[in-house]
Order: sequence, then structure tokens, then C-alpha cells
Amino acid sequence: MRRRLVAANWKMNGSGGFANDFAAALVPALEGLDAGVEVVVAPPSILVPAVRDALREHQGRRISIGVQNVSEWDSGAYTGEVAASMAVDQQCSFAIIGHSERRSLFSEDDASINRKLHQALSAGLEPILCVGETLAEREAGEALAVVERQVAQALAGMESGDWRHLCIAYEPVWAIGTGRTASAEDAQQVHGHIRQWLERQGGAAADVPIIYGGSVKPESAADLFAQPDIDGGLIGGASLKPSDFAAICRAA
Ligand code: PEP
Repeated sequence: MRRRLVAANWKMNGSGGFANDFAAALVPALEGLDAGVEVVVAPPSILVPAVRDALREHQGRRISIGVQNVSEWDSGAYTGEVAASMAVDQQCSFAIIGHSERRSLFSEDDASINRKLHQALSAGLEPILCVGETLAEREAGEALAVVERQVAQALAGMESGDWRHLCIAYEPVWAIGTGRTASAEDAQQVHGHIRQWLERQGGAAADVPIIYGGSVKPESAADLFAQPDIDGGLIGGASLKPSDFAAICRAA
């Protein structure tokens, strides 16, 4: 059976106090959650120690920590960057890579995303690779081709046997932060297409979890996660409310 995973992307929100309140509310809200559902929280990287310590203090089921980006480089004169190895040093186990906000606001392209994936995997972080089409691309009938190109270019040069620690998030750009979710059928069509592409690569590819992101709410989660190729979610806005995030985890 494939892994199921729900990840919180706080984006540029939160504080030390918020991290503590969040952990205090989330830990009891996840009590009794199916042990097969992996839960990840990705705060801004400066808040990773606060989230890690707060989760430890409130002790409950395992909740992994992730960063929202990693550098293309190992170390050195790259002011403002955070290396994948530094995230591991602070006990992170996941890294969101190629989020559409990074692509559109920080000019990340498929080649830089590919370098970041290599960095994450070699440091021992599990990448959550984000892909998704814009509204114009969807309306032009190009959604499947765009997503396939993004996945293929991001994973270029990697052995499919190494993908045991890889998650893909399909996040249509037009659904992120807009309140507009893809229908379960439209999302499934893209997930199924990614799955077929992965299967053609062989190795561990067929086991890669593919999660959906884009305005997921407790009310829409169950329908999306019931689709055969949707293995969980990447949650932005709704992840800032522990009760909503916990309800979404329960739907996975
Ligand atoms: C995201 O930022 O990855 C995301 C899916 O955001 P939202 O849930 O707010 O659309």
C-alpha cells in the first residue's frame, strides 16, 4: 500500500508563540489518527527550532518537520540561503521544493528545482516536489503536458530506484490560495497521468505518494483523498488553523 501524507505549508506566517500554540492544539487534535498517515509541518525555516521544541514538549504522535525551500548549493558565500544539510541538522526530514510561489516570485525554473532536489536527496531530506499548471495552460488544454514536463525535468538525472524518499504534490497554480479547488475528478486525472509516467520509469517510482494541494478545506478533503491516485494533501491557508488541519489529516 502506498504511503499517505498530509503536509502543512505555513508559507511566511507564524512566530515562536504561534508555534507553541499550534503544537498545543494540534497534538491532542491528532490523537487516534490512523498511524499510517504521515503528518508534516513546514514552517518558515527560522521557526523550525521553535516548532521542533514545541512538538517535543507537547508529546504526541510523530509529526515530521519540513522546510519550504533549500539552497541549490552546499555551503559558502550565498547570503540568505539555507542548505539542505542545515535543515537535517535541525531535525527536518522533508523539504518542499518548486512551490509555485517560488517559481513565480523567485524565478525558480525546472533546472534549479532539479539541483535543489539533488541537494535535498543527498542530504537525506525527502523532497515534496510541487508541480502544477497555470489557468492559461489549463484553458489551453496543456495541463497534463505541463505537469509531465515539470516532473520529468525536476527528476532528470536521478535513478528511479532512489525515489523511495520522494513525494510529488500536484498543485494547480489557479487553485493555490484562491479558494478555488480542483474537482476531485480533474485532480485525479492529473494524478493518474503522473502515476503512469512514474510507472514507466520503473524502480520505486510506482510507490511515490502523490498529494494534492490548492485550497483544500476540511469540507473538500474527503472527496479528493478518496480518489485512487490522491495520497494526501499539501495544505496552505487551512494548515494555520490546527482544528482544520487535523480534520484534513483525518480525511486522508
Ligand atoms: C500551498 O501553499 O501549497 C497551498 C496549497 O496553499 P492553499 O491551501 O492556501 O491553497
